[in-house]
Amino acid sequence: MFTITGIGTLVTNDLTLERGNLGIIRNAALVVGDDGKINWTGEAVNLAVDLAADAIDVGGRTIIPGFVDSHTHLVFGGDRSDEFEARMSGTTYTAGGIRTTMTATRAATDNALVANARRLADEALRSGTTTLEVKSGYGLSVRDEARSLRAATTVSNETTFLGAHVVPPDTDTDKYVDLVCGEMLTQCAPHAKWIDVFCDRGAFDVDQARTILTAGARAGLGLRIHANQLQHGGGVQLGVELGAASCDHCSHLNDADISALAGTNGRTVATLLPTAELCTRSAFPDARRLIDAGVTVALASDCNPGSSYTTSMPLAISLAVLNMKMTCDEAVWAATAGGGAALRRTDIGTLQAGSQADFILLNAPSHVYLAYRPGVNLVDAVVRRGTCVVGALL
Ligand SMILES: [Zn+2]
Repeated sequence: MFTITGIGTLVTNDLTLERGNLGIIRNAALVVGDDGKINWTGEAVNLAVDLAADAIDVGGRTIIPGFVDSHTHLVFGGDRSDEFEARMSGTTYTAGGIRTTMTATRAATDNALVANARRLADEALRSGTTTLEVKSGYGLSVRDEARSLRAATTVSNETTFLGAHVVPPDTDTDKYVDLVCGEMLTQCAPHAKWIDVFCDRGAFDVDQARTILTAGARAGLGLRIHANQLQHGGGVQLGVELGAASCDHCSHLNDADISALAGTNGRTVATLLPTAELCTRSAFPDARRLIDAGVTVALASDCNPGSSYTTSMPLAISLAVLNMKMTCDEAVWAATAGGGAALRRTDIGTLQAGSQADFILLNAPSHVYLAYRPGVNLVDAVVRRGTCVVGALL
């Protein structure tokens, strides 16, 4: 057990407050139990005297929950810097580049896939991400999707089967959908908690996505969907209809899509991935319109070698505030408790008694600095399950 005092700003994301409220405590203290959970949070003046005795004083700095990055593609081989360079010279982004990574992923050994995922998970941890969702989706065969998911389980419990990322080349689409719903699902479901489909131009249409997600639900997997990224379509409506935990991207939405999301009362989260828009020079999603309509919004990195090769949640927060008209409070909530909501969890992304003791010590007087100082590393320490795994608290 250990105690921290001198916390200038403590973000708790107190669940008894309404969504988006950070539950800030000034001049705070927190107590971490031996079970790796938060034991107590409150104003330091109310801390029990015996707990205050050996406390670590962080001198007015800020503590926020560890980031919950609820959308990443960390399992892949190779890179796509050539494609990036071409795009920056004027070529348009399409879903087709995924096939380049498929070839490199199929050629990579199991050990190479695990090492690459671990390298990126460690990189994410250094910028404060304590929980990552990790998808398959670059194997696109029974064998390669199953071993991608086995690699994913070495870095996360939140693993997602994304066999329906794109149709592999020289394959009939209907036959591939049958494969994804049949043998591939059978081999992958034991290693996955979720199933996801890329429902967009160049990938899968709404009927195919419905078939795949329904099969996944029957196999006991929770549902997620890549929807409305490249153009307007029925993906978001499908996600809401099927009770998906999250509709991701949401860059092209009409009023009906937004009211459908709002109507779920937070059961289906809109996960926005602003670094994907940044890295493809695309228009950012209209976060303000979603939040004002009552939609629960999460921020995630979409880390993948094609359209968003970053693990930085602080960058996502900066973009959300500077380019998407989110307030600093909304963006920090979306990157922590919002990510938790997108994974249907309240034990992460919060710092209350009983929460997992996952948190970040920021070298700043408040969480506002995450957006106010874009591109600057403010992370002094990261604690995961009660253990300091990056930097030092003193
Ligand atoms: Zn994605």
